[in-house]
Amino acid sequence: MGAARRARSLHPSRITTTVTIKMKTRIAFAALGTLFCTALASAVEAPHWTYQGKTGASHWASLESDYAVCGTGQRQSPINIETRKVTGTTAQPVSLAYAPASAEVINNGHTIQVEPANGGALTIDGVEYKLAQFHFHTPSEERIDGKSYPLVAHLVHKSADGKLAVIAVLFRTGKTNAALQPVFAALPGKAGARHAVDGTIDVGALLPANRDNYTFIGSLTTPPCSEDVRWVVMKTPVSISQKQLAAFRKLYSMNARPVQAVNGREIQAGK
Ligand SMILES: [Zn+2]
Repeated sequence: MGAARRARSLHPSRITTTVTIKMKTRIAFAALGTLFCTALASAVEAPHWTYQGKTGASHWASLESDYAVCGTGQRQSPINIETRKVTGTTAQPVSLAYAPASAEVINNGHTIQVEPANGGALTIDGVEYKLAQFHFHTPSEERIDGKSYPLVAHLVHKSADGKLAVIAVLFRTGKTNAALQPVFAALPGKAGARHAVDGTIDVGALLPANRDNYTFIGSLTTPPCSEDVRWVVMKTPVSISQKQLAAFRKLYSMNARPVQAVNGREIQAGK
C-alpha cells in the first residue's frame, strides 16, 4: 500500500502523531550519527603517540601516514642552535603586542596548554600572527650550543592564512615566575581536564625583557610535525621556581622531542 493511501485510511489525529514520532526518531538517529562521527573523527585525528617506548618520538613517522614528515622532513624541530653558525640578522625586529587576558588551561594528555582569549599577536616580516595557545616541554626541546634548560614554553601564533609562528621562552630555575602563577597554582591533573584560569594571563610578562632571539624555519615538535613553522627562540631565559617546575614534572616528567638535523638551515639573529 502506498503511503498516501495508508494516510487517507487513518484518522487525521493519528496521522499527525505517526508523522511526529517518525520525525523524532529521524532526529534522534541524526543526533546519534553526529555523536559517532565526532568520536570517530577525534580517534582519527589523534592516534596514540608518546615520548618514549613503542609509540615514542623515533616511531612517530610510522604511527600514521599523516605523520610521515616526522621522519622524512628536512626542516624539523627542535634543533640545537650553534651560535657560531648564526648567519646575519633579520631585516626588521619582531613586533610583539600582548595584553592581559582571561584564559583556559587544559591538560591535553601531552602537556599543559593555556588558551588565552584574545591574548595578543606578533608581527614578523610584515605578517601578523595571533596568539592561539602556549604550552610547556620539560626539559627544553631547544638547545643553545648544546645546552638544554629545565623547561621551555612554546607560544603558538597563527596568521590569517593559517601559517604558524612559535616563540620559545627558555626557563632556568630560580625565582617564582609570577606571570605563570595563575596557571601553575592549579594545574589540571587529569588528561582531558580543562578549567578557567583564576584572574588573567599576561603573555607580555612571561617574555624576557631582552627580546634578542634566534629565528629560523622549522616544524611542529609533535605529530604531525608539519613544516614551514617560523621559530623565534628567545636568547635570554626567564625564571621559574623549583616548586613550579616540580608541579609540572609531577604531571609530565619528560615531554621533549630530541633535537633534529639542521640540514644547513639558515639561522638568523633577531631583535
Ligand atoms: Zn611545543
